Amino acid sequence: MGKTIFSKIINREIPADIVYETESILAFRDINPQAPVHILIIPKIEIPSVKELSGKEHSKLLGDMIDAANEIARKENISQSGFRLVFNCGADAGQEVYHLHLHLLGGRKMNWPPG
Ligand code: 5GP
Repeated sequence: MGKTIFSKIINREIPADIVYETESILAFRDINPQAPVHILIIPKIEIPSVKELSGKEHSKLLGDMIDAANEIARKENISQSGFRLVFNCGADAGQEVYHLHLHLLGGRKMNWPPG
């Protein structure tokens, strides 16, 4: 599978506004934000989408992604007011980049159901 734009961000081949990094996780601001806070939380290993995840194999990684989301939400001051976490999986959900990513959105009131 070819490298996605997110692999290039991980490898510092293209710039991004990185807000959080650990050995396994990177998080950076979305280039086209849909809310005042819109951050993408990604694993450093290449996994195309949620479909390739299993609870058994990836529980540590998923836990790390949730820990990242909570820590970033606190730093961005949206932890109290609330935030949304989204995985888009596949064409109908509007997934554009086939490197797993968790959207962290906040800083405004959001609607439900989503469009
Ligand atoms: P998806 O639709 O796949 O769930 O979300 C992909 C997200 O990646 C979109 O919100 C899009 O704005 C963001 N994105 C695409 N290319 C880049 C990029 O080069 N840099 C950054 N920071 N975000 C990107």
